[in-house]
Amino acid sequence: MRSWAEIDLARLERNLRLIRKSIPSNFKYVSVVKADAYGHGILHTASRLMQSGVDLFAVANVKEACEIREMGSGWPILILGPLLEEEDEALIELDIIPSLSSLDEVRRFQDLSRLRKRKIKVHLKVDTGMGRMGVWWEKASELFRAIKSADGIELKGILTHFAEPAHEGFSQLQKDRFQKIIDANLPPPLPSDFIIHADNSSSLKVLQKNSVFNAVRIGLLQFGVTPPSHSALAHLEVEPVLSFHAKLALVKDLPAQTSLSYGRLHTLDRDSRIGIISAGYGDAIPLHCGNQASALIRGTIYPIVGRVTMDQTLIDLTDAPRDLQNGEVVTLIGEQKSNKIPLETLAFHGKTIPWELLCSITKRVPRIYLTKRE
Ligand SMILES: *Cc1c(COP(=O)(O)O)cnc(C)c1O
Repeated sequence: MRSWAEIDLARLERNLRLIRKSIPSNFKYVSVVKADAYGHGILHTASRLMQSGVDLFAVANVKEACEIREMGSGWPILILGPLLEEEDEALIELDIIPSLSSLDEVRRFQDLSRLRKRKIKVHLKVDTGMGRMGVWWEKASELFRAIKSADGIELKGILTHFAEPAHEGFSQLQKDRFQKIIDANLPPPLPSDFIIHADNSSSLKVLQKNSVFNAVRIGLLQFGVTPPSHSALAHLEVEPVLSFHAKLALVKDLPAQTSLSYGRLHTLDRDSRIGIISAGYGDAIPLHCGNQASALIRGTIYPIVGRVTMDQTLIDLTDAPRDLQNGEVVTLIGEQKSNKIPLETLAFHGKTIPWELLCSITKRVPRIYLTKRE
């Protein structure tokens, strides 16, 4: 293998348990596994999550819902993104729950329900300040009334989404708007399986335990990656599930003053030994990591030099042991001996966010699963 990602499923399971312990025990855990489970591979991760106690899966679209449904019937699956009209039939075929944000969808789903003689379960999405999906909160009551009078539609939950969880004031404003809509339209008692949710990985730390919510939607954090600007979450000792490795493919000596790689962004200030790693941005190393990030060999950190290219990345091995050889394992994300490079660090150097970095691990990177149980 020239480059590969290792996925440690026991860690995923431990993270899930840790997060569950940090939220009230009556809360439902919605596991977000969109984008091929954040690049970890939906098949292996979702089936391990099914055995470890999630209540509901959330994905972005019908195609992803289909992948989970093929693993087993019965698991509730929530679609987070808006449905194309051509996908409506799948609600029946796959028994999935859409997030609804418009009167048009109420009409479509009601028609579909009549046609197929089946009730359609939905969650109502309220836009309290994200400006993306959901009915604008001031118009939500109208949508509630429409759902109530549509006998083919069964409301199973309500959700909103925070635009900037790190901004306490704005998040509070969003919560207040959400609360108003709930107070006006959902008189207690609510059915015991009715869920109200907003919090994701970034807002877990500030989750108010006595609030109106009774579920969380967790993506990133269950994979052991911490959202930026939330170092406070470090109190949850989640462990990174994914590590990423490549191999040392060539070692060569170059004289001082030689410039390296495209654009000649790095010039050697001394006679140097340069190593070529068998991976580039065509695997998972962000372009902007050139001259910024580093890599681990035999537990020691070496700097990446020059621009990252599609298939190869250069590191400065001038101070490395002379016996480093072809085939040596190079770790770009993960641990070696007592040293580690967190995914968050590579993302930072690559001028990107952990979510995007995980989504940019390409198809040519095989995922190797460590399936050992505790
Ligand atoms: C992706 C997503 C989440 C999960 O977010 P994380 O930050 O990865 O925990 C939650 N809710 C919605 C609507 C999403 O699109």
